Amino acid sequence: MLEKILEHNRKYVQERKDLGEDKPISGHAHKDIMVFTCMDTRLVELLEPAMGFGRGDIKILKNAGNIIRDNCSDVIRSVAVGTVLMDLKEVYVVGHSDCGMRKQKIEDIKAKMEKRGIPTDAINAIDIREWFGLIQDETENVKDAVLKLKDSPYIPKDVKIYGMLMDPNSGEISVIA
Ligand SMILES: [Zn+2]
Repeated sequence: MLEKILEHNRKYVQERKDLGEDKPISGHAHKDIMVFTCMDTRLVELLEPAMGFGRGDIKILKNAGNIIRDNCSDVIRSVAVGTVLMDLKEVYVVGHSDCGMRKQKIEDIKAKMEKRGIPTDAINAIDIREWFGLIQDETENVKDAVLKLKDSPYIPKDVKIYGMLMDPNSGEISVIA
């Protein structure tokens, strides 16, 4: 796959150069917006056009399940970078229906970890539900992330924070928080 990627990249870069599309643009989000969403493959090239965003418009953060785990502040760190340091005004947590992080079972995860050679002591050292961030319900998970961002002392209080759920097939959005 690596060779294919590099071959494609050489052509892509040349095409953009030929079209004059390689000119620098600002790294600041033009629309002063940050989106926090799931790494689900179906959202690639769906979420941004479904919300009316293009290249240069927004900062986008992704993880497995758009989850902000307890005692795990990396998402909050990135939102603080966006809002405190880069002056973004709005944050949208965009979950989606049919999320893989709701469908995983603890026993299956444990079996997969064992099969893939994860050391037993490493498996036993974690609470699998908490460490992987398994969720019970996509809507509740979005509400929880919104609450954690609103409660965080590191996110300025004038930042607007919204929660949404997206259909990963149609791209339709509903506002839930
Ligand atoms: Zn997902």
